[in-house]
Amino acid sequence: MEIKFLSIKKIESNPDVSRNSYEAAKRMWKDVKVDYITSRHIGFTATDKLYNTKHSIIYFSERKFPKSWNCDCRWHTLKGKFCKHILAVFLRLNKDPFFLKTIKKTPL
Ligand SMILES: [Zn+2]
Repeated sequence: MEIKFLSIKKIESNPDVSRNSYEAAKRMWKDVKVDYITSRHIGFTATDKLYNTKHSIIYFSERKFPKSWNCDCRWHTLKGKFCKHILAVFLRLNKDPFFLKTIKKTPL
């Protein structure tokens, strides 16, 4: 499996990324956890300690980017855009070289 995600440069230049979501992701990325890895999917949990909320993110490697990323929060479900939870996973992938070490990582 190969995991495709946005580089920090692309997050910052993407007009569909809300500044507020990005700022929230900056405080959340260290609290992202991997729940499971299957042959095609990766499940994550992102926690926002400020509001004491948790959401589940799934990466679907068989889907085309950006549809490969799904979160169960209202923001993502309603707007179909990257939410703070998905952005927190992207930041973790960008900043932590030991995160998902065995998986091929491709920043877009
Ligand atoms: Zn979300």
